[in-house]
Amino acid sequence: MSRYHTPLDLVRSRPVEGPVACARPDRLAIAATWFQDNFPGEVLYAVKANPSPWVIDALYAAGMRWFDAASLPEVELVRERCPGATIAYMHPVKSRHAIRRAYFDHGVKIFVLDCEAELKKILEETQYAKDLTLVVRLAVSNEGSALPLAGKFGAGEAEAPDLIRQARAHADELGVSFHVGSQCMAPGTYRAAMAEVSRLIVQAGVTVDIVDVGGGFPSVYPGMRPPPLADYITAIKDAFEDMMVLENADLWCEPGRALIAESVSVLTRVELVKGNQVHLNDGAYGCLYDMVYAKWPFPIRVHRADGDLTEQSEEFKLYGPTCDSIDTMPGLHTLPADLAEGDVLEIGMLGAYGTAMATRFNGFGDVETCQVDDYPWASLYTGSAAEAVAALPATAAEERVVPFARAQRRRRNRLMKRRG
Ligand SMILES: *Cc1c(COP(=O)(O)O)cnc(C)c1O
Repeated sequence: MSRYHTPLDLVRSRPVEGPVACARPDRLAIAATWFQDNFPGEVLYAVKANPSPWVIDALYAAGMRWFDAASLPEVELVRERCPGATIAYMHPVKSRHAIRRAYFDHGVKIFVLDCEAELKKILEETQYAKDLTLVVRLAVSNEGSALPLAGKFGAGEAEAPDLIRQARAHADELGVSFHVGSQCMAPGTYRAAMAEVSRLIVQAGVTVDIVDVGGGFPSVYPGMRPPPLADYITAIKDAFEDMMVLENADLWCEPGRALIAESVSVLTRVELVKGNQVHLNDGAYGCLYDMVYAKWPFPIRVHRADGDLTEQSEEFKLYGPTCDSIDTMPGLHTLPADLAEGDVLEIGMLGAYGTAMATRFNGFGDVETCQVDDYPWASLYTGSAAEAVAALPATAAEERVVPFARAQRRRRNRLMKRRG
């Protein structure tokens, strides 16, 4: 990966042909360290947010050993790059082939399900394995999230208690999980979800070993500044104390966005300016999917290879490179009045659901990756998290000890449960 001090240095030292993802692995390490130090349980990176090899490698280097995979290719990706990693297969709908391969070829023991038919599939394809961790995905309120995910997955109140009981009967360890929706702006949403889940566990009347609070942790975007991440941790800790689970139950989370969003910006070149129309070489079918379909507000700045830019004073409409008219960014963007062909737009906070979304439509979709060392637009990880950088090697070394202790504790818990 070529390395530049800043995206502007990159633009000044070479042409930007296709879109370029500017990677900040050091920032990702800060985020990963923060979560591992502050979340009172296991942190599973939700690979789907950004499956770029450099992301997986940087997380692994920062001590991350648990990964949430949504498909067999994601399982394979983590297996290949992360020796000794624990992989949880957290998509509620899996093909039989994928279940079989994940279990028998890749040692995946953790599977999520949200209905009886999927439980049956998992049991049959693992030949009723005795070492499964089964996680029942429950439907919870997504109120308070910018991008609700409710409606597709999750067992509802009517079927959840019975499903939890059935999963308990076949699980070595039993978990419950939920997803409050992406970019959750209110820590109280987790608290409410955990109270809801606790009621369902009580109705089911069985013991639960793991509570997985899912993803949904926010990042910072224009007009969306969430409360400090520490408030989310506090809300989750408090709610966990009140839950009707074993005293030694484990807590998991699956952040995607909050870990990777701020670590990547994308450079896209202006191919043509026609009046107030600006045609870019990235768009709805590339890294800017969320900008178009979710009308997500990403920050934009402009770089010019030689010469200065005038003030950002003129309103422009932005277009992506494909022939489809959907490939148009919503709203108007205030950019330099003399914006011209060859100028480069840097779109920030695009690490999550950015490069991961690019398609091959119209022959576009190749995204190059370069490393940069500048500070991202905005960060959730300042102050004490910045100090974490200095502590990084020590944290990585400690990590080898901590999961081992946790694994031991879990083993002991299991024995105690069987005995008593
Ligand atoms: C998408 C997803 C995540 C990550 O969500 P973020 O909002 O990016 O944190 C975690 N868990 C599951 C099951 C998901 O589907």
